[in-house]
Amino acid sequence: MADDCIFCKIVAGEIPAEVVQEDEHALAFMDLNPWTRGHALVIPRNHSSDLLEVSDDDLARTAAAAKRLAARMKERLDADGINLLNACGPAAWQTVFHFHVHVIPRYEDDPLQLPTRPQEADEEELAAVAGELR
Ligand code: 5GP
Ligand code: ZN
Repeated sequence: MADDCIFCKIVAGEIPAEVVQEDEHALAFMDLNPWTRGHALVIPRNHSSDLLEVSDDDLARTAAAAKRLAARMKERLDADGINLLNACGPAAWQTVFHFHVHVIPRYEDDPLQLPTRPQEADEEELAAVAGELR
């Protein structure tokens, strides 16, 4: 457990949360500021700050728990679709530094929009960035 980590405190039962699913390794609870009805967070019980620090085992267990929750959202909340989202680093909107995956039920008539419209890539730039990643 990391000092001053609110999600570790939720795991430890020191602060309340609406827990909807739990197992030995992962916990899912409602996000306090939901983007849509049913928006939840899935976290590993072990502390790690973000995607680059989480162990492969905890990542796999968290992803599997998110999949189970997504299926339940479709069934119980009648969601039309699901977004999984992870923010890694402040530049990517991360605000709580205990690795977590947002599981966001989507509805045909919900108000969520992509914040920007993706632009078609320049072929040379696409090849250049691909080269940097290889
Ligand atoms: P991030 O921006 O790091 O990807 O997401 C953090 C999420 O945690 C936010 O959506 C925020 O609403 C949620 N959150 C922050 N503090 C608490 C809390 O104490 N309890 C719960 N249930 N959610 C929280
Ligand atoms: Zn933590």
